[in-house]
Order: sequence, then C-alpha cells, then structure tokens
Amino acid sequence: MSEFELYRKSFQGDLVLPGDPDYFQAIERWAVNSVRKARIVAFVKTDDDITLSIRYARNANLSLAIRGGGHSNVGASSAEDGLVIDLSRYFRRVSVDAHSKLAFVEGGAVWKDVDEAVIEHGLAVVGGTVNHTGVAGLTLGGGWGWLQGTHGLTVDNLHQVTLILADGSRVVANDTENTELFWALRGGGCNFGVCTEFVFRLRPQRRTLYAGVLLYPFTVLEDVVDVLNRWSRDVKQNEAAMVNFIKEEDMEVPMIAVVVVYNGSETEGRSNFRALLDLSEYLDIVPQDSAEQVIHNGCTLEPVEDTTSEIAFEKLNEMLNSRRVIMPGLSRFMRGFFNPECRLDVEKLRHYFEVLTELPCQERRLNINLFVEYVNPTKVQEVPDDAMALARHSLNNSVAMVAWSVDTPENTVLGRKAMWEVLNIFAPEKVWQPARLDTDATNESKFQFDEDQDHRMANRRSGKELYGEEKYRKLQKLKRKYDPDLLFNKWFTIEPEPNDNTNRA
Ligand SMILES: Cc1cc2nc3c(=O)[nH]c(=O)nc-3n(C[C@H](O)[C@H](O)[C@H](O)COP(=O)(O)OP(=O)(O)OC[C@H]3O[C@@H](n4cnc5c(N)ncnc54)[C@H](O)[C@@H]3O)c2cc1C
Repeated sequence: MSEFELYRKSFQGDLVLPGDPDYFQAIERWAVNSVRKARIVAFVKTDDDITLSIRYARNANLSLAIRGGGHSNVGASSAEDGLVIDLSRYFRRVSVDAHSKLAFVEGGAVWKDVDEAVIEHGLAVVGGTVNHTGVAGLTLGGGWGWLQGTHGLTVDNLHQVTLILADGSRVVANDTENTELFWALRGGGCNFGVCTEFVFRLRPQRRTLYAGVLLYPFTVLEDVVDVLNRWSRDVKQNEAAMVNFIKEEDMEVPMIAVVVVYNGSETEGRSNFRALLDLSEYLDIVPQDSAEQVIHNGCTLEPVEDTTSEIAFEKLNEMLNSRRVIMPGLSRFMRGFFNPECRLDVEKLRHYFEVLTELPCQERRLNINLFVEYVNPTKVQEVPDDAMALARHSLNNSVAMVAWSVDTPENTVLGRKAMWEVLNIFAPEKVWQPARLDTDATNESKFQFDEDQDHRMANRRSGKELYGEEKYRKLQKLKRKYDPDLLFNKWFTIEPEPNDNTNRA
C-alpha cells in the first residue's frame, strides 16, 4: 500500500482531491485571488487526523497550509500543489462555561458561531467585525473588534490554546503550562502549529446595542470629517466607529459610510452620535421653516441612508456582511497603515476622491475602499508590550482595500496600481514600491513580507522589523524549538534561530 493509501485509510475526516465533485468548493476562499490548487484538502475530524496530515505532508515534501475561516487575502491558508489542513468542516464547536466565564472554541469556528453561543449567557468576547471571519486567524494576529475599547484586543482575552505541533504532538499552552509558547502564539500567528481549541475569557454583555451605517454623499466631506475629528478626540470606551470612503463599481459618485456602535440603548446611542445623524445641528444651521430640509453645499445634512437601530448583540458583527466589499467572491488587495490619532485630512481625502473619480471603476468593475477605525485605546495600551509576541506598536487603524469582480491579470495590475496610488496619498512616508506591478502579479504562491498583507499587522519587510529585534530573537528561538524545519511558513514566517547561533537576522 502506498503511503497515501495508508494515510487515507487511517484518516477519519474527508480527503478531497482534484477531480472530486466538491474540489473547487474545498479550495474556495473569501478572496478569489487567494485560491490555490491544492493537491489534497484534508477536512480533519480529529486530532489524529491533524497529526497524520502533518506527517504525510512532511514525508511527501508537500507545502502545508492551515485553513480556519479562509479570509486571508494573501493565500496564507491555501497551498499550491500542497496539502491544506482545513478545520472549517468538523472543528467548529463552541461551548460555554458561564460560571467561570470561559468559551471553548474549536480552531475552525467563525465569529458567528461564537457570538451566538456566548450571548445566550449574557456574555461576549471581542470578536471580528465581520462574523464570517475565522476565529483562528484573527486571534493569532491580535484581533480588533467593536468591544475593544472596553475589553482590549481579542488576544488580550485569550486564556489558553491547544495545538498540534510540527512533530505531531498535542500541547496545551496557557499562563502556567508551556508559557513561552503561549507568549509566542499571541501575535506569532500560525508559526507554531495547528490550533485546535482557543479558550477565551468572557465579559458580561447587554443583549442589545445601538449600531448601524450612516451613508453620506462625498459633497459633505468637510462636515463629516469635522464631526469625526472632533468626536475622535475623546472616544468613550463603550462606543466605536469606522469611516469608509468608498467608490464601488455601481456607484456614480463616491460615498462616505460611517459605521457607528454604542454599547447601550438606541436613545443613548442616538444622543451620543447626534452630530452625525444631523450635521445641521453640529453646524448650527437652523432651518427657516421647521418642515424645510437644510441644504448645505448642495446636499441635505442628514445621511442619505441610516440603518442604525437597537439590534440584538449577535447581529453586531453581521451588519456589514451584506456590503459588497465584504461579500465573498471578489479578488482583493488589502493593506493596513497607521493614521496617527485618526485625524482625517480633508486635503488628502479630496485628492483621494479625485483618484477614485478618475479610475475606471464601472468599466473594470473595481471597488475601492478606505477604512479608518476609531476606538478608545486605553485598554489596549494597558497591556505591557512584552506580555506577548504581538507587535502592539505595529497595529494599524486604517486599511485600504481594492476589490475587483473579474479576476484577470489586467485587473490585478490595475488593482495593484490603484492600491499604491491610494497608499501614497495617505502614508507616503512608507515609500510603497510597486515591486511586481508588471510581472505575474496574480496568485503569489509564497508569502512576502512586503506584499499585500493582513491588515492587522503593519507592512514590515522582515520579521525583525515587524516584531522588533528582541521579540524576534525570542520568536526565532521558539521557532527552532517547535518548528525547526519551517513546516508552518505561510504567515509572517519566523526563521528558526540557526543551530550555531551565529545568524542574528
Ligand atoms: C472581511 C474581513 C473582515 C475582517 N475584519 C477584521 C476585524 O474586524 N478585526 C480583525 O482583527 N481582523 C479582521 N480581519 C482580518 C482577519 O483577522 C485576518 O484576515 C485573519 O487572518 C482571518 O482569519 P481566518 O481564520 O478567517 O483566515 P484563514 O485564511 O483561514 O487563515 C489565516 C491565517 O491563519 C492561519 N490559521 C487559520 N486557522 C488556523 C488554526 N486553526 N491554527 C493555526 N493557524 C491557523 C492560516 O494558516 C493563515 O496563515 C478581517 C478580514 C476580512 C477579510
């Protein structure tokens, strides 16, 4: 019997191969340009399945990827001609110990699974703002969410991780067992193993809160920016917002969307965000006739769309799902950057809108988005930087995203150019190099530090730059201990410390 037959015989989940009816579904990802043609997709059912898959990939010299929620937009959970350990089919259980306020979440769960299970007990964890995102990838990279102002990052609420290491063994890491590994996992990404379970500390949460989207035409740019710049000087812990400057393929003109969240009642939320709900109040413009709508710069001063209301908690991370840019099925580049103090600069935004207007968004079905997040920073800053591997200093609060509906090499190049144009407006100091603009820019198969990255991490050119020298050296030591052969190499890859300890890169 061949080694593959032996593997298949012992495997309890599903092995999907090219030619199988569900093969294309098995390699699908949130971003179309993250799809890679794997040789084997292993929908693991048990810990032993994971161990078997790791051993098989190692012996067959196959590139290995791990898939949680499948939202990496750089193909980090895909493997061209390799083996994918996919936890999304059988590793999604969530159980809650309400007494000790802990949630036990399997490594293939998405945030919807978690939000729904925990709120039943009046509890919550800081989850991703889009509930089909995977718990694993988001947590291992830090994790930003609407509740961050009150509770810190997702990773700050992580109590324990269980994982299968590169040698196939199972370990538990927490504050008392395998403490260094626990330190490394929190921010060190998927460099150390396949995480089968995350345990989160839960926080009391009211069943409803005020949230939704306010949409404005770009003609009121200055007013919206003014309101946001004033409000953001002192964001309270129980409120958050995200502004999105958008041009989508079916929009005649760019728009401004402001997502607001207030962890309280609708009455409190409306009062809190009243300046955004009616810019005339903020501008101190009183209509002559109370029935008359105030027109300013040719526009009404109320949002053209207002979806805000008091919603059930489990709908919070679902409210963006129906937005085009969030839906699966598009190709994408995403790049994060840091916008100091979240101050928005009207001149830069005007320039950005000019770029948007010139781009052939409708003809080439391009969608351009710039997101800026606002959240109270206190809780995140309270955690000492050396508490975990996470490069806290490198976290971004802004993301540029370019998405296109038709995945062609021409559109990939156009998307890439558009991305650099946008980044050069907002973060010119970073010198965005269109490194491979004219080469084969589709489906990069190997992760590059300076290529399109997960937006939680800054765009750094090396692990040392991302984590800082001291942390990176510690991570290298741990990589040598836990994965000396670089089996897990798809995400901010940490080079193991060389045996002779001479290379300090
Ligand atoms: C629409 C959208 C919304 C987002 N919103 C937020 C947000 O609100 N807050 C935020 O912080 N981030 C957000 N992100 C970024 C997101 O956290 C990252 O893209 C994250 O890596 C996705 O995790 P995943 O499990 O879905 O991805 P995957 O593509 O499955 O995996 C991403 C990486 O994690 C590794 N991995 C996955 N599962 C495991 C596992 N079980 N064990 C070990 N390694 C594993 C993979 O190997 C890969 O390297 C968002 C991304 C998207 C696309």
